[in-house]
Amino acid sequence: MNIEFNENILKRFAALEKRGLLAHAYLFTGPAHIGKAATALAVAGSLNCENKKESDDAYFCGRCLPCLKINSGNHPDVHILQVAPGESIKIDAVRELLAQVRLRPFMAEKKIFIIHNIENLTTEGANALLKTLEEPSANSLLILTTAVPERVLETVKSRCHVVPFVPASQRALAARLVQDYDEDKDQAHFLAYFAEGCLGKARRLKEDRLCAAKDEIIDRYILGREREALIKTIGADKVKTREFLDILLSWIRDCMLVRTGVKDARLVHAGRIRELQNFQRRFSFEELTGIHRETVNACRLLVENLNVKILLSIIGEMLWAK
Ligand SMILES: [Zn+2]
Repeated sequence: MNIEFNENILKRFAALEKRGLLAHAYLFTGPAHIGKAATALAVAGSLNCENKKESDDAYFCGRCLPCLKINSGNHPDVHILQVAPGESIKIDAVRELLAQVRLRPFMAEKKIFIIHNIENLTTEGANALLKTLEEPSANSLLILTTAVPERVLETVKSRCHVVPFVPASQRALAARLVQDYDEDKDQAHFLAYFAEGCLGKARRLKEDRLCAAKDEIIDRYILGREREALIKTIGADKVKTREFLDILLSWIRDCMLVRTGVKDARLVHAGRIRELQNFQRRFSFEELTGIHRETVNACRLLVENLNVKILLSIIGEMLWAK
């Protein structure tokens, strides 16, 4: 099973279940990719696993029939509702899901209903859901998730136990990437910086090859002077532009830290300390601040879908002026 679940939260659910204190509805809140979905599934696994009693520290075995069925999305008592980003959760979908609430579970003790991004629920959908929240069935558990709790209807929120997911520290996240995902120490450090405490985000960044892109961006465009390629290759692609700007911001940030004498793990690019030192020596503090400012401006233009090529060219001139 996916190991991006939050162990502390899972532990709390296991303890509540043991004491017969599980509530009927929970709202998982926290930034995207922090592990809300994985934890919801892990809760389903821990409530259904046939072997969990074998050892105290394992919540589910991942091998028994219920575990395998949950993993492959085929468990008849675990229902998940997830709409595409930006789409609203309509009343029909909610009704279809909740029609199952009154039925007895097929193979589990409890039926589990998971609705992701509950902030997208329409008012009609919410009304259908409220009925279930007000008259819960003893053998059902409802888990709702959201990254924007302030947009969840108050009527829904107030009927759920809120479970906040808190981002990990950069250091803790890097350690976990090394330990659980066999990540190289430098890369883990770099990923942890950009992942903002979210393990899932770190894994996505890795899959998006940000690590590989990082070295190319530093070598070719920040240290190298491939002006034409910067405009043609980077500037023509929004994702690449974003990557370039993100890496450049982290590089300039590091340069400023190096200037104040920092040499340790506080640097995103700690593995390139020599190059950072040589690079920052070429600029005054004001010049570094200027590059930083124009890079932030370019990020803003990109968000607003405006053309950033001119600004990229200006940033290039600033980088390579000396
Ligand atoms: Zn199992």
